[in-house]
This record gives sequence, structure tokens and C-alpha cells, in this order.
Amino acid sequence: AATVAALLTASLAACGQEAKGGSRYQNDDGNTIGLAMPTKSSERWIADGQNMAKQFQKEGYETDLQFGDDKVENQIAQLENMITKGHRLLVIGAIDGSALTQVLERAADANIPVISYDRLILGTEHVDYYASFDNERVGELQGQYIVDKLKLGEPRENGGKKRTIELFAGSPDDNNTRYFWKGAMKVLRPYFKTGQLVVRSKQDKMNQATTLRWDGGTAQKRMDDLISANYGSQRVDAVLSPYDGMSIGIISALKSAGYGTKSEPLPVVTGQDAELASVKSIVRGQQTQTVFKDTRKLASQAVAMGDAVLNDKKPEVNNTTDYDNGKRVVPAYLLKPVSVDKSNTQLLVDEGYFKAGQLK
Ligand code: BGC
Repeated sequence: AATVAALLTASLAACGQEAKGGSRYQNDDGNTIGLAMPTKSSERWIADGQNMAKQFQKEGYETDLQFGDDKVENQIAQLENMITKGHRLLVIGAIDGSALTQVLERAADANIPVISYDRLILGTEHVDYYASFDNERVGELQGQYIVDKLKLGEPRENGGKKRTIELFAGSPDDNNTRYFWKGAMKVLRPYFKTGQLVVRSKQDKMNQATTLRWDGGTAQKRMDDLISANYGSQRVDAVLSPYDGMSIGIISALKSAGYGTKSEPLPVVTGQDAELASVKSIVRGQQTQTVFKDTRKLASQAVAMGDAVLNDKKPEVNNTTDYDNGKRVVPAYLLKPVSVDKSNTQLLVDEGYFKAGQLK
């Protein structure tokens, strides 16, 4: 055994790496965790990054927090830089889940472990763990909210008044998009079948509804077009929106078209992330719902995972079947999302996510 250890040390030294403590992961002489988040254009990602940085620092690590400005090439350059610097671990909220294969090959060559954060990285074996929320459940909560709010009851033929709906999906390069869509459609499709819910635009396939980079302006423009092409004298009763930033754009389009008055109230509009602007909009009675995903808890989970990996311990996971990235099923820890509307915004204050004064 002594010879094997000596050989291992020698061969690691030959690769320019040190065999500190014998772990395959402790190859770097710094103590820095690379945190690559997708964008600053949405509060949640800023909070995710900052929460992780704080919590990793508490565990005694240094952190290098970078935001990719929603540009794939920025994120790749940031990751390359982190690898070159010899960071110990990479935690990545991918911009384009399929664009990191090459850069993660380099991370693997340097024995740097990778945690996929919130969004699954696709097409590479070099993803060790995945921390996220139950993404299909997010879509189910949005779909079910619409069904309940429109009082559709159980799906049934000749189920009374037809209601109209338009559908939005997230960014096509984000793996979460299809999970949100799948969850929402699981609930809504039976009502399309009975005719209780009608998509007047007929744009009911995910690829007709995606919104590149989750952009609010793009969603607003599409909603403008949907209204003018399909809702002359008709009313749209609900809009499935997968993300608060898009919901705000959609509501602007609806208001420009005359919705949001006593005689023509806004339709049911869903959302996700419990971003401050949307929670305030919910309190004011405009956006109807959002899905709260506590980014502090997700950050803790990722930090616990990272710390375990770096100490040769097995991180806690609760899903080892659902997140196949095309190369491997990535072991995951999934947290529970919670639906929030006007009736329970207090939850966000009770949980300390916002202060009561912020929501006015
Ligand atoms: C996240 C959502 C977020 C969306 C847009 C998704 O990957 O899971 O929480 O709303 O990206 O940033």
C-alpha cells in the first residue's frame, strides 16, 4: 500500500497537483469556491450568489462570485478563469445547460468537482451533484392555481362556460423549462381536452411558447401580439407565466390592451420566484400568484453538498432517478416550492424573506 501511495503522490506531482490528504478533490493550494451565476437581471440570482458566498465563507472557504450577464460566452470565460486559478469547487447556475461540456472537461482534468445549481447541466458526465427545487411541482402549482381560481372543478365534458388561456414557457436552453411546462400541462391538458379551457392562439406547444433568457420584454411583446391577433372582442381569462419577470411584462401588455379596470379586470397571471416587484403586484391585486422558492435554503443545500464533496463525504440527496442529463443521472437534492397569492403573502414575512414594510 505504501508503494501505491508513493506512486500516486508521484504521479499527481507529475501533473502539477498535490495529493493533500489523499483526496482526489484537494488538488488546489487555494481554498476558493467558484460560484458562477447566470445573471444579475433578476433578484433571485443575486441572492443565490450572495447567500452561497456568505455560507461558504462561514465554513471557512474563500469565494469567487461571478455573474454571466446571461451571455453564454461570459459564463464559459468565467469558468475557465476559475479553473485556471485552481478553485476547489465550482457551483454553476448555467445560462445554457448544454454549452458547458468542453469547459467542464477541463474542470474534470483538473479534478475540480462541479455542483449544478438550480438548473441541470446537460450532456456531460462531469457534474457531481444537483441542488434544485422540485421543478415539475412548480409547474403543477401554477397549473392548479389557474384551475382553482377559474373554478373549473374536475375536468368534465360540457363543463359549463369556456374559459380562455394563453401559455408562456421559459428559456428553451434552460433544462428547468421543460419540467415547469410538463408540470403545468399535466394539470391543464385535461381541461383543453374537455374544451373547458381554450388557447385561442392555438399556441399550445412548448416550442411555440418559449421565451429566450426569460426576458420580460420578449414576453410583453408576445402578449401584445397574442391579444391583438386573438382577443378582439373576447377576453383572456388566464395566462400561464413561469417567471415573475415575465409576468410583469405580460401584465403591462394586458394593461395597454385595457385590462385592469373594474369592468375589465386582469386575468389570472401566475409567476415564480416571489420577486419583490411581483409580490407587491400581488398585494396590489394585479399579478395573481407566484411560486416561492427560498433561495437561502437552496444556497444552504449547495453549500452542504460542496462541503461534503470536499471532505470526501457523501452529500445528502433525495432524488436519484429524475435528473438524467443525457450522460448520467445526476444525484439531486430537491426542495419544495410553495404557491403564494394575496391570501398568504404574510408567509414571506414570517419566513423573514421580506420585511413587512417592503411589501406595501
Ligand atoms: C429558475 C427559476 C427562474 C428562472 C428565470 C429558472 O431556471 O429555476 O426560479 O424563475 O430560471 O431566472
